[in-house]
Amino acid sequence: MSVPLIQAYRVGRYIAGRKLRGVKRYPLVLMLEPLFQCNLACAGCGKIDHPKETLQKRLSVEDALRAVDECGAPMVSIPGGEPLIHKDMAQIVASIVQRRKFVYLCTNAILLPKHIDEYRPSPYLTFSIHLDGNRERHDESVCQEGVFDKAVAAIRLARSKGFRVTVNCTLFNGENPAEVAAFFDEAMTLGIEGITVSPGYSYHHAPRQDVFLGRSASKRLFREIFKRGPKSADGESRRRWSFNHSSLFLDFLAGNQAYQCTPWSTPTYNIFGWQRPCYLLTDEGYAPSFRSLMEDTAWDKYGVGRNPACDNCMAHCGFEGTAVDDAFMHPLKALKVALRGPQLTGPMAPDLPIVYGEHARHVVASVPVADVKRATRASDAQHTAGL
Ligand code: SF4
Ligand code: SF4
Repeated sequence: MSVPLIQAYRVGRYIAGRKLRGVKRYPLVLMLEPLFQCNLACAGCGKIDHPKETLQKRLSVEDALRAVDECGAPMVSIPGGEPLIHKDMAQIVASIVQRRKFVYLCTNAILLPKHIDEYRPSPYLTFSIHLDGNRERHDESVCQEGVFDKAVAAIRLARSKGFRVTVNCTLFNGENPAEVAAFFDEAMTLGIEGITVSPGYSYHHAPRQDVFLGRSASKRLFREIFKRGPKSADGESRRRWSFNHSSLFLDFLAGNQAYQCTPWSTPTYNIFGWQRPCYLLTDEGYAPSFRSLMEDTAWDKYGVGRNPACDNCMAHCGFEGTAVDDAFMHPLKALKVALRGPQLTGPMAPDLPIVYGEHARHVVASVPVADVKRATRASDAQHTAGL
């Protein structure tokens, strides 16, 4: 386990409280998106395809804190866009930390050296640095050379100042398992607390659609990566990789758990309001309040086999909450997987059955084409401009 005991204790106590009260759906991590603007234009990003007026909008400090209080989740993840572009970010973070919520400030790290002294090290604050692989792979993923080196320098700087740091790694089509394993080894040498890892969700609004992994390919890839195991530079086995995930989520990634997603465990709030149903689906509308999100969303319309837009999703924002709930209900099963690691051979757990009709597939498939073309052009333009 990579999180400090205080975090494990407080989150465990929060879940136990919800279970004792018989609460069926509870939030675990609030995804707070303070802006969509970014200083990169990554090939697999589904967040930056907005008109200029939208990209210039910011969540106010008051709105951000109101969302934190309304939601009540013990952890707050702040992705974007690039949060460090927001001029009030340090104030938002300090106010959430003051509420004793565990903040994960997700950043591509380019602006971190400039802003780091606006933040104070705390057990409640973690910089989650975007790193999708080794130098070549990461720079390819973010469509700009030199970003890997900047991210690694920023990790070292943050660690030297006593901050908690994790690495946030998204895996795409064409990954080499040996290279990913070597990257995990390298990441651990940077003194980080853990690695957050997920297959990239195939955003309809992403500039490139050919980069995403399918569901079966994701499971095979994770088995192959985990089989490599951690190694030191001279090829000897070394200390374990530390993941910022529950053992059962890793087991799910390796194809051993047939989980349904629980999108309410990671509700999303941004400049448009409470996003239905999750962080990843951006065309399903918004709720006027957190209560309305939880009570009026047609949750049964979403998830594996229920919606074609969910077909290839194995992202932690959908399934980590499911895995944590499972671990809470079946602690011995979770302990066994934690001690032995995920099963890496033999048959995989069958996927949940598809219950949506062909019409649903057609509707989803027909929506993104124009958007993808538009996004591709935008990305090409930004790339050409050297952004
Ligand atoms: S994925 Fe890339 S472009 Fe999108 S918000 Fe993150 S750093 Fe910015
Ligand atoms: S499976 Fe869940 S988390 Fe993934 S896109 Fe669908 S609703 Fe969102």
